Amino acid sequence: MAKKDEPMSEGEEETEAESISESESESQSLSGGGESKGGLEYIMSLPDVPTKLPPHMELQRTRVFCNADAPIHTDTVQYSGAFAALGEDNSFRLDHFRKNFRIEVMRYSEDDMEFDMIGIDPALANAFRRILIAEVPTMAIEKVLIANNTSVVQDEVLAHRLGLIPISVDPRLFEYADNNAPNERNTIVFKLHAHCERVKGERRRHTVKANDLKWLPNGSEFLLESGDSNSNSTSKPKTHTSFSCSQDSLPEFSNNPIGFKGKLNDIIIAKLGSGQEIELEAHAVKGIGKTHAKWSPVATTWYRMLPEVVLLEEIEDEMAEKLKSKCPVGVFDIEDIANGKKKLTVARPRACTLCRECIREGEEGEKRVSLRRVKDHFIFTIESTGALPPDVLFTEAVKILESKCERVISDLS
Ligand code: SF4
Repeated sequence: MAKKDEPMSEGEEETEAESISESESESQSLSGGGESKGGLEYIMSLPDVPTKLPPHMELQRTRVFCNADAPIHTDTVQYSGAFAALGEDNSFRLDHFRKNFRIEVMRYSEDDMEFDMIGIDPALANAFRRILIAEVPTMAIEKVLIANNTSVVQDEVLAHRLGLIPISVDPRLFEYADNNAPNERNTIVFKLHAHCERVKGERRRHTVKANDLKWLPNGSEFLLESGDSNSNSTSKPKTHTSFSCSQDSLPEFSNNPIGFKGKLNDIIIAKLGSGQEIELEAHAVKGIGKTHAKWSPVATTWYRMLPEVVLLEEIEDEMAEKLKSKCPVGVFDIEDIANGKKKLTVARPRACTLCRECIREGEEGEKRVSLRRVKDHFIFTIESTGALPPDVLFTEAVKILESKCERVISDLS
């Protein structure tokens, strides 16, 4: 290297330029500048970096270990470079997600559905659960106009019970309510008039059920009280709704009357004694579970991580029988092996409820059986209230999450 202020010879200048360009290219590589490899990519390409995690760390990354006292390794590591020194690129990649994400339907009926959601982060699985409970809209009775109620059920309790009856109608066909303008696009009106006749010498009882609620496609029949004495007596009297047409003339409802399907018809509203009567009108509007649980489209929805039950040693004969009898859900089975011996096998790991009965003996138990949960595999269950089928509820939840993401992206850009 030439001293400061001293001119360099031609040869010395070339050597200096080479060494500067070498150190520049090295610093570019580390900082990810230019066309060279970026930080994590550079680390991963170094020859000394191993190509994958050691097995015990891979298990910790992908499984929750359920020990006798408490679960461990419950976190999901999101930092992309968390395992870079061990050769694992932990970054989230859309192409990997697309390739690995799967949904497998295990059970389906019109009321409930169980499916496996594989290759997804717990935060996203939980987002779907929360959206299903609180943000997928349904129609529910919000306003009850009571003309007569001589039953033992108080007005407010009766109104509350009516609100909780799931209505079998697609909420996507309706708009959110405008309190000042209940119309055929945002309100469904039902009428209930039930009476238990009084007969001398008889102790009568009458059960009022959801199927006693009759749909009024033309809207409310109760007249609005008008203080205007000059109103034109020939004009149509005003009611509590302003429908411009009958709902059964709309193509969506012409062949599909609004009401309660199947078992929902049998929901008991009240029991009337002799001479008791209920006369009311119930107005249903669109809403979400976040406002009130009556709008929640699910009775419940939940998920659990896929259980893994692993035998760490051969368990035979007496001990095999003992462990099999300990499991309350029949995860284990006994297999006959040579010389009249028997060994324990894991037959139904999916049924494991993690009660830990099989590892109750503490360390001894944990040496025989390892209970784990797969961190990115969720057994998801949706129980619909009956308003919409469970698969439609899930696709609606996906659409809501998508619109939320779009909103965040547009707010940020
Ligand atoms: S944790 Fe409970 S349910 Fe699971 S295998 Fe053990 S005993 Fe059976």
